[in-house]
Amino acid sequence: VLPELKDKVAVVTGAASGIGRATAVALAQQGMKVCLVDLKNERREQVKQQLADMKAEVMTADVDVSDPNRVHQAFDAAAKQWGRIDAVFANAGINGVLSPIEDMKPEDWDHTLFVNLKGTFLCVKHAIPHMKQNGGSIIITSSINGSRVFSNFGMSAYSTSKAGQVAFAKMAALELARYKIRVNVICPGSIKTNISENTHPTPELDKIKIPVKYPEGSQPLEHAPGQPEQVADLVAFLASDAASHITGTELFIDGAESLI
Ligand code: NAD
Repeated sequence: VLPELKDKVAVVTGAASGIGRATAVALAQQGMKVCLVDLKNERREQVKQQLADMKAEVMTADVDVSDPNRVHQAFDAAAKQWGRIDAVFANAGINGVLSPIEDMKPEDWDHTLFVNLKGTFLCVKHAIPHMKQNGGSIIITSSINGSRVFSNFGMSAYSTSKAGQVAFAKMAALELARYKIRVNVICPGSIKTNISENTHPTPELDKIKIPVKYPEGSQPLEHAPGQPEQVADLVAFLASDAASHITGTELFIDGAESLI
C-alpha cells in the first residue's frame, strides 16, 4: 500500500483503455476516488463498473481532451463531487495519421498535436485551481518516441507532440512547485494496449521505410511489449507521497527498448 493515497481524488484521462484503464484500477486499489475521463465509449462504462465492483468511488466524464470547455467542466465536476483533486494522470493520446512529412495533411498534423499536446495543457490548466490549496501530483504520458526511438515511420506529428509534453511537464514542474504540485512525465516503450485503433498508416509510408536493426517493439528485458499494469504501478508510485521529492523528471519505462 502506498502512503497517503487512500480517500484522495484522481482524474485519469484516456481511462477507458490500456494504460489509463490499468492506472484507474491501480489507483482505486489504493483507495482513491477516481474520475474516468474519455471520449464517449462503452469501454469507459465498463471500467466504471469494474471500479464500482471493487467498491471504489467512481465518476465518469465524456470528454474530448482537446476541447477546452469539456475539460474545464470535467475538472470542476470532479472537484465539486469530492471537494478536491490530488492526482491527475494526463494520459489520453493517439498515434493519429502516420504519413511521410511531404504527404502529411496539415489537418492530420493538427489533430495529433491537439489531442496529445493541447489536451495535456488543458488538463493541467484546469486542474490547477483545484490542486493549489493542498498540492498534489500530475503525471503526463509521453513516449520514448519523444526523444529516443524513431524507427516507427511516419510519426513526425506524434513524436513532436510527445517531445512537447516533456518540455511542458518540466515548465509546469517549475511553475507549480510554489503550490506543492509535482509534475512528472513518463515515457513508455511499446505497451500492449488498443492504441492501434487510433493509428492510421497511409500507403505513402512505404516511400520512407528503411531497414531497422531490431524488430519493432523489441525490448532487451522481456523480449515482448510491456503490460499496462507495469506502467500503472509507476503512475501510482508517482502519485503517492513515496515520490514526494520527485518532480520535473522524465521516467523511461521501456525494458531498455530506447537503448537499442
Ligand atoms: P489506448 O488506445 O488503449 O487508450 C487510449 C485512450 O485514450 C482510449 O480509451 C481513447 O478513447 C482515449 N482517447 C483518445 N483520444 C482522446 C481524446 N481526444 N479525448 C479523450 N480521450 C481520448 O492506448 P494507450 O496505449 O493506453 O495510450 C495511452 C497513452 O500512452 C497515450 O498518450 C500514448 O501515446 C501513450 N503511449 C502508448 C504506448 C504503447 O505502446 N501503447 C507507448 C508509449 C506511449
